[in-house]
Amino acid sequence: MPNTSLWGWGRTAPTLANVVPVRSAADLTAALAAAGPRGVIARGLGRSYGDPAQNAGGTVLDMTGLNRIHSVDADSGRVVVDAGVSLDTLMRAALPFGLWLPVLPGTRQVTIGGAIGADIHGKAHHVVGSFGNHVESLELVTADGRAHTLTPADDLFWATVGGMGLTGVVVRATLVLHHVETAYFTVDTEQIGSLDELMAAQSVDDDKYAETVSWFDAVSTGARFGRGLLMRANHATLDELPPKLRRDPLRFDAPQLLTVPDVFPPGLLNKLTGRLFSELWYRKSPTRHGAIQNITQFLHPLDILGEWNRGYGPRGFLQYQFVVPLERGDVVRGVLERMHAHGQVSALNVLKRFGEGNRAPLSFPRPGWTLCVDIPVNDGLGALCDELDQLVLDAGGRHYLAKESRTTPEAIRRGYPRLDEWRKVRDAADPTGVFTSDMSRRLELTH
Ligand SMILES: Cc1cc2nc3c(=O)[nH]c(=O)nc-3n(C[C@H](O)[C@H](O)[C@H](O)COP(=O)(O)OP(=O)(O)OC[C@H]3O[C@@H](n4cnc5c(N)ncnc54)[C@H](O)[C@@H]3O)c2cc1C
Repeated sequence: MPNTSLWGWGRTAPTLANVVPVRSAADLTAALAAAGPRGVIARGLGRSYGDPAQNAGGTVLDMTGLNRIHSVDADSGRVVVDAGVSLDTLMRAALPFGLWLPVLPGTRQVTIGGAIGADIHGKAHHVVGSFGNHVESLELVTADGRAHTLTPADDLFWATVGGMGLTGVVVRATLVLHHVETAYFTVDTEQIGSLDELMAAQSVDDDKYAETVSWFDAVSTGARFGRGLLMRANHATLDELPPKLRRDPLRFDAPQLLTVPDVFPPGLLNKLTGRLFSELWYRKSPTRHGAIQNITQFLHPLDILGEWNRGYGPRGFLQYQFVVPLERGDVVRGVLERMHAHGQVSALNVLKRFGEGNRAPLSFPRPGWTLCVDIPVNDGLGALCDELDQLVLDAGGRHYLAKESRTTPEAIRRGYPRLDEWRKVRDAADPTGVFTSDMSRRLELTH
């Protein structure tokens, strides 16, 4: 009986499903054999914002119990891991060998299966591409219960990378990690007074940094409109560390300081609190070059707080993320102006420049500007997002399925012109449509 309520990180549209824990190949085969008419979808740690890992009235496979790291080869950087291993666990296991996961998103609480399913990206995309670029092979169990070992030579490999769990269940993957000398970054931070200057600065010297991101103030108006922080970093070498850190250069320790309680009223993030947050965030990071920061400080400051999404109150929030071609950076300003015009507030605004994309038809990254804004759910939000969709799609852009929770099948068709190519490969792997999710039905990804 479907009886477990599941939702995404945005906490917007929970639905009930029959959740089946998968701890072995036998569990998986049994679950697929027992699939009912509402089908099956795999779920990792539920860090997608919308509904791709939900399946109302059907089966959801909880993959987090399939969580062994099978091998780590310090010389080649090759690791063999189960799909339910989190990036946090893998990173902690690999660092003592001097190995680094080249693609880390804004949280480490993401599974290998979820990272492949969404073909996730990090702040290093302009240098290393997205997650699928670092998968040497993967084991996929298709709807008929058969296991396939796939490599980048297979179309089904690329349909699975970014395929949002709709080609089958990833059970294991071989990844190739990079070598590092330390677990620290040397960080250059610039405080920049306006959005145009911020984007201009972000456009130069990108190749000199392994990781780049900027945050900007989307609340203040007038002279402060779009002021922000450009943060760029390289992996620190042993010589760059102060003597105290040099003694244990690969040490990583990131305690979670607090779990946010589920007590916040709607409307807590408003113009006043948003302005206050933006002022504090801007001021906390003055221009400084060569600062040594640890992984949490530079990459994952929010991981210090457990369940911080509860801070948006009971109606949840939406993360609007899109990419537009580099020559259409004007859309970033256009989006901010539309948000102001609608009186919508976002305090967490992240802007990155993507490098080349990969072969996966549904992979999100392509060369361009990608912007994320977090907006609490409220009555006017739908109208704003419809306007933003037009701006993004007219500029040749698209939305990120891992963050998406409210757009239309048409917007996805326009944004992903290779959707039919992907469907052909998917349909051949799953001819009776066993793999299905709330998202695949809502966006008509599958027939
Ligand atoms: C705070 C925060 C910051 C984030 N920052 C970034 C970022 O910087 N870059 C980025 O790219 N993403 C980012 N994300 C999104 C996140 O990386 C993706 O949504 C990722 O897919 C979540 O992984 P998960 O294990 O939670 O998977 P889920 O959310 O549970 O599932 C995601 C998709 O993967 C599929 N899937 C999961 N496991 C398997 C499996 N074993 N086999 C087949 N399919 C599977 C599911 O069916 C679903 O379609 C962020 C999310 C949060 C909450």
